Amino acid sequence: MMKKVVKFGGSSLADAEQFKKVSAIIHADPERVYVVPSAPGKRFSGDVKVTDMLLEAYRIAVEGGDLECQMGAIKKRYDEIITGLGLDFSLDDEFAAIMKQLKEDPYQDYAASRGEYLNGRIMAKYLGFEFIDPYEVIFFNDEGNLNSYKTEKILKARLEQTPQAVIPGFYGHGKDEKIKTFSRGGSDVTGSIVASAAKASVYENWTDVSGFLVADPRIIKDPVAINTITYRELRELSYMGASVLHEDAIFPVRSKGIPINIKNTNRPQDEGTWIVESTARKSSFTITGIAGKKGFCAVSITKALMNSEVGFCRKVLQAFEENGISIEHMPSGIDTMTVVVHEDEFLDKEQQVVSSIHRLSQPDSVEIESDLALIAVVGRGMKSVRGTAARIFSALAHAHINIRMIDQGSSELNIILAVANEDFENAIKAVYDIFVLTQI
Ligand code: ASP
Repeated sequence: MMKKVVKFGGSSLADAEQFKKVSAIIHADPERVYVVPSAPGKRFSGDVKVTDMLLEAYRIAVEGGDLECQMGAIKKRYDEIITGLGLDFSLDDEFAAIMKQLKEDPYQDYAASRGEYLNGRIMAKYLGFEFIDPYEVIFFNDEGNLNSYKTEKILKARLEQTPQAVIPGFYGHGKDEKIKTFSRGGSDVTGSIVASAAKASVYENWTDVSGFLVADPRIIKDPVAINTITYRELRELSYMGASVLHEDAIFPVRSKGIPINIKNTNRPQDEGTWIVESTARKSSFTITGIAGKKGFCAVSITKALMNSEVGFCRKVLQAFEENGISIEHMPSGIDTMTVVVHEDEFLDKEQQVVSSIHRLSQPDSVEIESDLALIAVVGRGMKSVRGTAARIFSALAHAHINIRMIDQGSSELNIILAVANEDFENAIKAVYDIFVLTQI
């Protein structure tokens, strides 16, 4: 039988009603055998995620404050789920153990991890699946990175003996026998690790949107969802700020050729988005997605005959490296090159960087432009369609938006544009309109 790994995000497990939907989804397909739950998330806007409540409990513990009230509020959330599901089950012992640990030896990762641990206990009971504590099967090295080799070996062996299991997300076994968590949103990574070890046919990642959207819904009202996206396209979009999945969640499944399917717990009938290595499926709109970020600076360096000076770029880049500034993009002209950097990182070091550039590369001039936004228009279909760039530029011209910089890699997977911060939203709308709205 094929095996599917299903990860459910916090909003999919925020209360008993959501748990019931999750159980229906799991029971609808006997291949859904390994379940990775997050901690209960927000039930309504303004609500607090259990992970954040636990982090607050940790803060109180460190300050030696009274934990009863905060832990009581957390326990109430779980008790409501247990009662709502009609389970004959109690987490009293678990809560007593957490209280003890927080009083005697509080540490942040331990506190944060308990949200998933407790939710996993309830989920295992509710589904009648075995509970596997990630502390026993997911390992970090002393530097705090995932120990993929050890994890794969031990987790694989364990799953081979366990036909159906709940494996809580977000944490594992760290240095000095302590619990260690991934960064926030890290249950996505756990799901991917489990899918890889189980050689799953698919990693289903259930959330509260019907897939990865073509553009940010805070800018575009009801954007359409992407049907299929490649890992490389996803990387480009995530890097530019689009977020659905934890960035590190891609690597474990990618190396095994396992696709990820982003699905909506509240609309399981929707196909969602498929994230794949490669595909013959065409994206519906030439472009796959649009994402962007504000707050960049462009540092332009001019020097006559720069193009014939061997090593010039290296010297300029060294100036940034010496000052610990990372570089986002680097379009160049005949006698100019521009280095785009994050404004907040750059501002403090600005004059040191400029003097380093002068010292190292003796340019004719260095000019800085601030308040830029970068927009990435991403699509594997772009390279085979004529006129994509022309459509983007004319859409922006019609919207009276001045393009300050253009950068297209030779892979033709994306076109990156810089516009003024204040034009950011309108530029995204203009690109979305021309490629998507006019096509549906
Ligand atoms: N509960 C953790 C968080 O809120 C991890 C996760 O949900 O993936 O970040």
